[in-house]
Amino acid sequence: MNRENYIAIRKQLKFRSRTLLGIGALLVNIGLACAGVWSLQQDSVTLYLLGTILFALFMHHCYLLMHECSHNSFLPSRTANVVVGHLAALGALQPFYAWKIDHRNHHLWTGHVRKEPATRRGLEMAMAASKRKSTNVFLKAAWNLWVPIFAANKHVLLWFLPFQKQDNGHINKTAFVSALVGLVGYALLALVPGAAHLMVRALPALYLYMLAIEVINLPHHLEVEIYDSNRPIRFWEHDRFTKSMAPLPLNGMLFLHFNYHTEHHFFPSLPWHELPDVELARRYNMIWIKNCFDLVIDFKKVWTVLVNGTPPQAAVTELLIPSTQSFFN
Ligand SMILES: [Zn+2]
Ligand SMILES: [Zn+2]
Repeated sequence: MNRENYIAIRKQLKFRSRTLLGIGALLVNIGLACAGVWSLQQDSVTLYLLGTILFALFMHHCYLLMHECSHNSFLPSRTANVVVGHLAALGALQPFYAWKIDHRNHHLWTGHVRKEPATRRGLEMAMAASKRKSTNVFLKAAWNLWVPIFAANKHVLLWFLPFQKQDNGHINKTAFVSALVGLVGYALLALVPGAAHLMVRALPALYLYMLAIEVINLPHHLEVEIYDSNRPIRFWEHDRFTKSMAPLPLNGMLFLHFNYHTEHHFFPSLPWHELPDVELARRYNMIWIKNCFDLVIDFKKVWTVLVNGTPPQAAVTELLIPSTQSFFN
């Protein structure tokens, strides 16, 4: 998209989040949690399977709430976004502030071969697969068995980063405290009677949640351009590096319009409920729309490239140059 069209669309948008819609989304989240927990504890197989789906939807909803709060666009108050963000991050199994920083770098460096965190992690995995046979075999097995290895890798990695020293020799205090808050939250939840039993019963839901992150959310940036430059791309250039997905049923309250991903990259601070309005950008035929199934196919293609150890050579060459980029920069 060009700058003029971008500015014209931007002028028509409302950037203020609506409290009532936020409360509605929170009620949906609480409803999914309660219905999921109750169903998971029933002896009936049908109710257990239903509970698995509901609890996976609850975790995915937490992920989307955490994402919205990380942009300070879920509720009008910044404090409310921080509080809800930390609570939602518990359900999404992520340390809120470390995720927020990772996501900020994702938006700032979308498509950058070294500086965009997910691209870098994917290419590093590809390099490891091309160098070591055992890694290659492991990744191939993960793919064939539908193990969501990318999503799991990110979820685990982000818990370590707040406790590691950065390039400046210090830890990031805000991320450190935020991760501690998360760990204390889990400790308190573990004290609730029946928590361990529920955790075991929720394992299939955890798998479904990770799978949803891996094959639906991550592929918004697969099979697009990558670049290397010291200058981040402009907002109106993001359609070269991002895909959107066709809406799903109950797209607003259940999926917070996360499918409008290119639109979100154009306007990261635009609240979720306003994203469908950016659809007018499609008049310019600049946004790639994929359905959910297409995204899974894209994901399969990229996986095949990764496990065959043939990542883009330019990207690999770049990754061989030691990066001075600090995670928290
Ligand atoms: Zn993105
Ligand atoms: Zn975002």
